[in-house]
Amino acid sequence: MKSIIKIYEENNALLNGHFILSSGKHSDKYLQSELVMMNPIVAAYAVAPLVEMLKSIDFSLVVSPAIGGIRFGYELARQLEKRAVFTERVNGVMALRRGFDIENGEKVIIAEDVVTTGKSTKECMAAVQERGAVVTAVASMIDRTGGAALFEGMPFFSLGAIDIETWEPKDCPLCKAGSAPIKPGSR
Ligand SMILES: [Zn+2]
Repeated sequence: MKSIIKIYEENNALLNGHFILSSGKHSDKYLQSELVMMNPIVAAYAVAPLVEMLKSIDFSLVVSPAIGGIRFGYELARQLEKRAVFTERVNGVMALRRGFDIENGEKVIIAEDVVTTGKSTKECMAAVQERGAVVTAVASMIDRTGGAALFEGMPFFSLGAIDIETWEPKDCPLCKAGSAPIKPGSR
C-alpha cells in the first residue's frame, strides 16, 4: 500500500511553488486533491484504507463540504455502500441544497479532502446538525492540522498527515526573495 503522500506526489497533486492559501497565509507547497480524484482508479485505491478505519463508526450518510470534499465523500460512500451528499456556500453560509435530505437523528460522517484549520469541516457539520443529523466522525484524505484537536473529541480519521509550513504574508521568505505568490485553489 502506497502512502497517501506518495499518491499525491505521483499524481502531481503535491505542488511546489509559492501559494496564497484560503487562510490568506503563504506556503511553498499546496495539495491539489482533485488531481488525485480525477482518476477513478487512483481515487478508489487512495480512499480504500478508510473503509477499514471507519468499520467501528455507525453512520448511514457521508456529507462533504463543496467542492474539495465532494469526490472524496462520494468515493468513500461508494466503497462503504452508504449515501453521499454535500453542502455548499450560499451567500457565504454552508447549506444543504439540491433536495438533499437528512432524516432526523440520522448518523453521518463529514468527509473533507484536506483538513487544515477545520473551518469548512465545522461549517459543514453545523449545517447538517441544524437539519437534525448526528455527526459520528470526521474523515479526511490528508490531515494538515499539525496535531491540533479541532473537533472536540469527535473521532477523526485520515489517510495520512503532512506538515506544510505557512507564513503570514509579511513574514514569508518567498515574498522576501522577490517571488509573487499565486492563489492555487481553483486555477
Ligand atoms: Zn509569500
